[in-house]
Amino acid sequence: MAFIVHKYGGTSMGSTDRIKNVAARVAKWHDAGHRIVVVPSAMSGETNRLIALAKEIMPQPDPRELDMIASTGEQVSVGLLSMALQARGKDAVSYTGWQVGIKTDSAFTKARIQSIDDKRVQADLDAGKIVIITGFQGIDDHGNITTLGRGGSDTSAVAIAAALKADECLIYTDVDGIYTTDPRVVDEARRLSKITFEEMLELASLGSKVLQTRSVEFAGNYRVPTRVLSSLTDPLMPLDEEAKSGTLISFEEESNMEQAVISGIAFQRDEAKITVLGVPDKPGVAFHILGPIADANIEVDMIIQNVSVDGKTDFTFTVSRNEYQRAVAVLEANKEALGFSRLVGDGKVSKVSAVGVGMRSHVGVASQMFRTLSEEGINIMMISTSEIKISVLIDEKYMELAVRALHKAFALEQA
Ligand code: ADP
Ligand code: ASP
Ligand code: MG
Repeated sequence: MAFIVHKYGGTSMGSTDRIKNVAARVAKWHDAGHRIVVVPSAMSGETNRLIALAKEIMPQPDPRELDMIASTGEQVSVGLLSMALQARGKDAVSYTGWQVGIKTDSAFTKARIQSIDDKRVQADLDAGKIVIITGFQGIDDHGNITTLGRGGSDTSAVAIAAALKADECLIYTDVDGIYTTDPRVVDEARRLSKITFEEMLELASLGSKVLQTRSVEFAGNYRVPTRVLSSLTDPLMPLDEEAKSGTLISFEEESNMEQAVISGIAFQRDEAKITVLGVPDKPGVAFHILGPIADANIEVDMIIQNVSVDGKTDFTFTVSRNEYQRAVAVLEANKEALGFSRLVGDGKVSKVSAVGVGMRSHVGVASQMFRTLSEEGINIMMISTSEIKISVLIDEKYMELAVRALHKAFALEQA
């Protein structure tokens, strides 16, 4: 007997028929003698619909009230799934995050889980029940409902698996695992049977939305064995076959010499670039420009400062596109103090990244990446690197071309 957490995404929960399929799959695992907690997302499109409703009333909704609304999609899902299990004769019970003590901080719309009280859930599991808990949400110290950011049900599932010391967390989704890049963009993308935790963390944080970044952090910090697999297969397929399918996030130190240099290509379409021209080049310039941006809770990604000419320099950084206007407004408001001549911005840029632990032991990856992009006539605006990734900022209109060309150049379609 093992203790397994299942997570089902929006497409997997997308209709009552799909929910009945989820119930059949969950019942199969429970029948095999396992303790099962299920964490479903809202039905597909539902969270978008709820947020759009809020914006019809208030274009910049109050974050607390927005979370009150956005969290309800999952509440519907858990109730429906519990009923679908009961209709199959199973003893199932559904809870919202706050009913089982999922404590978060108070950062509405992007809250972080701080603790989970497992007593109620363990008692239900001891009584042989299947426990279903809403993804994406929790409660802060003041009793407010919070949500964990888009895609947050992944994080709920892995955090619950960590807190309850589950043996494994299975993330069921609409693809059959982690691919070398988004299979919706590159037809030749190949499924990986295994990926290292470090690579998955980079891919997720560089834009591969198959897993929310924080879920990968939880998996790493608490060593939760996590597997991504399809919910669209026959729910009655043999359990041992299903248990080995998909992609396992591995914690092994990769010493395998045959490990590919690059494991995957990630991309972030919605980026924006801001250049502050003619700032006096003196100690503290980066701090004075980025300090007010940080105070406005805007996350900065890539940064470049040019060499100075005549005591003046240019400073460029990127932010997520939905923060672009706000970032420009913050700088304009500080124009006098910063002493820059003007701002230039580009709200139509994207970031493409190559990720692989093999980069540590291989040289030439960057030059191959730059050559491939130059052969496609794609101009690189900014570059950033870490030990296991290289990212470039390019014009949005070449993003898919760049992803396809790099996938081919690194022969990622080949095992
Ligand atoms: P869910 O609703 O189950 O949470 P998501 O839409 O959040 O599903 O994530 C699954 C999607 O992630 C896939 O349909 C796929 O288009 C996308 N995706 C992006 N990058 C990758 C990748 N490297 N491997 C697999 N899927 C990816
Ligand atoms: N329903 C939430 C969203 O659409 C959370 C999730 O699906 O993971 O972002
Ligand atoms: Mg998701």
